[in-house]
Amino acid sequence: MAENVGFIGLGIMGKPMARHLLDAGYALTVYNRSRGPVDELAAEGATAAASPREVAERAEIVITMLPDSPDVQAVVTGEDGVLRGARQGGLIIDMSTISPIVARELAARASEQGVGMLDAPVSGGDVGARNATLSIMAGGSAEDYARAEPLFRTMGKTITHVGPAGSGQVVKACNQVVVALVLEAVSEALVLGSKAGVDPATIIQVLSGGMAATRVMEMRGPNFLEHNFTPGFKVNLHHKDLGIALATAREYGVSLPLTGIVEQMLQALRTRGMGDQDHSALLTLTEEWAQHQIGQNRPA
Ligand code: NAD
Repeated sequence: MAENVGFIGLGIMGKPMARHLLDAGYALTVYNRSRGPVDELAAEGATAAASPREVAERAEIVITMLPDSPDVQAVVTGEDGVLRGARQGGLIIDMSTISPIVARELAARASEQGVGMLDAPVSGGDVGARNATLSIMAGGSAEDYARAEPLFRTMGKTITHVGPAGSGQVVKACNQVVVALVLEAVSEALVLGSKAGVDPATIIQVLSGGMAATRVMEMRGPNFLEHNFTPGFKVNLHHKDLGIALATAREYGVSLPLTGIVEQMLQALRTRGMGDQDHSALLTLTEEWAQHQIGQNRPA
């Protein structure tokens, strides 16, 4: 029989993911800091809760999809948090992108109470969340993973148990390094090609047919070409993720020079007040340095 499921954090990602669980027939209890998305899902059949604690009192499995490590710490271990309401045998699945170190600490804390915990961050973006095609990388015990797998199947397509607690977040940090560096690579290529006189749409079309083809260009090409930086994935969140990658690298004695540069570029966008824009806004820095907006010299 399907277990009762709770969902906390109904933003760009969480709301469509929660909706897939509802559509699959799970009894779903939801909570979010702001009320709007709670009411929306309640109108579609979910039960609204007044706190993370109440979610855990109603559901054996609680999923969190929150911005950053401190948010997950507060929601799981806080005064009115999930662990206050969770019973022995419960399971917490954190699908946010947070520090692997914090993920391990939270899993240890939950296990003291007989509650299982998986770190199961995702990639595939808002489109993947809406289409249930996310890639989900889970860290934790094999038993907890087996219990969570049917839920993952409603939200994602590529689902992998990558290792013990924290390892899902390690793989996600690797993913975020690649996406950030490729976004910057595509930005540089487009500014170079466009200022040198070629239509950027043509550049994307040609590159997409060869070794330079990348899913980043496929998914964000239209954003670049239209200068549409509606998120998507916010600059603030990607900056947070590169911070996680750099902190993890420091802990393990790994140098990530290019990650450091792009992290600083994302910081510059935040300082300009562009933190809530899509990460493809990275393009605007290279454009400014070149004094050229892509597509400007396209024939009229
Ligand atoms: P978002 O800002 O759209 O949503 C976060 C939600 O959490 C908001 O609805 C907010 O009200 C809620 N929230 C924050 N603090 C809370 C608290 N203490 N209690 C209850 N609710 C709280 O962010 P998002 O884009 O949905 O991202 C969520 C997570 O998923 C982040 O860790 C992000 O890095 C990761 N992620 C995002 C994407 C993407 O493309 N947007 C892709 C992969 C992973």
